[in-house]
Amino acid sequence: MNPASRRRIYLVFAPLGWVVIAAVWFLQQEQSPVIRFTYPVLFGYLIVAWMLLRLGADRNVVAIERSTFWVIAAFWLASMGIRLATTADPQVAWRGLSPSIFMGLTILVVMAFLWFDTGPALRNALLLVVVSSVIGLLYFGPHHGPGDTLLIDFIRYEMYLGITAVFVFALARSKDALLRTRVEAERMRTMAYRDQLTGLDNRRQALDELNRLAASGAPVAVALLDLDEFKAINDGHGHDVGDQVLIGVAEVLRGAGAKVTARWGGEEFLLVFEGDQPVAVAAAGRVRAQLAGAHFPDGVLVTASFGIASLAATGTVTELLRIADKALYRAKNAGRDTIREQLSRSDRLVD
Ligand code: GH3
Ligand code: MG
Ligand code: MG
Repeated sequence: MNPASRRRIYLVFAPLGWVVIAAVWFLQQEQSPVIRFTYPVLFGYLIVAWMLLRLGADRNVVAIERSTFWVIAAFWLASMGIRLATTADPQVAWRGLSPSIFMGLTILVVMAFLWFDTGPALRNALLLVVVSSVIGLLYFGPHHGPGDTLLIDFIRYEMYLGITAVFVFALARSKDALLRTRVEAERMRTMAYRDQLTGLDNRRQALDELNRLAASGAPVAVALLDLDEFKAINDGHGHDVGDQVLIGVAEVLRGAGAKVTARWGGEEFLLVFEGDQPVAVAAAGRVRAQLAGAHFPDGVLVTASFGIASLAATGTVTELLRIADKALYRAKNAGRDTIREQLSRSDRLVD
């Protein structure tokens, strides 16, 4: 869950916490010094944290979560200390810790792994185990009498708490590893399906999408375009300027309203439209005009030749691409900077 959604959840549920804390304080402060003194502090903290969350940005969320961990930890540890310090009979003291404080500390050990990164979470959780052990041992040690098992039980509880921390740590580590694998897989996917220079889909992705669209039964038309005399741009202005021109052309193509915008290879691009042939012809016309008006590095002038075909006229994706390529070839032969479409078996000059 990202910080923004966690923030929304805290903002909604924190007032519930105020109500509970206020109600418990009101009903039980007479009987319990712990509640009388610690609950108002907790209440105040929750109000301040809520206001900081409300006013602040999402990045405050993590800092507030971490401080909340230690405020709640301090609350449980103080409750534990006060209860033990104010109870002479160890049996009664034990009942005072069980189950609320024991459960509270256990939940907090798990919460550490939600609120901190895995390494710091283990350190904070173990610190909680150590501090609560010291508080408990200072009490149950001297109060240990013959035949009573409270000291042993307490040590056992703290050991379970420590083991819980280590187990959750192991789980959190595998979750981290899984996350790293996912990120790496996503990076590999991006490398496999995107063109590195322009960020457009690459040929493989375009073909996948084109096949998917064709299989869906939707009307499909494509515009295959090839930049004119691009070798001369490279030769005259350098390969770097050539690369910048390709990036600039990709930017123009992104605005063409195509379902798929891909770098087909070298200085060739493919636009796939969900629509009939006139949709692709009109879009190619707009792209052609935009290229003429665009500013490229070094004042380079860029034109392109377009070949248009539609699935309705060709039947298969392979044939669609073959006919588009043929139409493009004819556009080149017709003198470049022009659009040709295949209509049935006859080529038609569009502009
Ligand atoms: P035509 O109008 O007939 O298409 O002529 P052209 O010069 O565009 O075609 P040709 O196929 O002769 O040259 C294409 C050039 O595109 C050659 C190649 O070096 C260049 N090219 C291909 N990929 C890249 C690239 O990623 N960066 C740069 N700078 N140039 C590239
Ligand atoms: Mg070319
Ligand atoms: Mg070419």
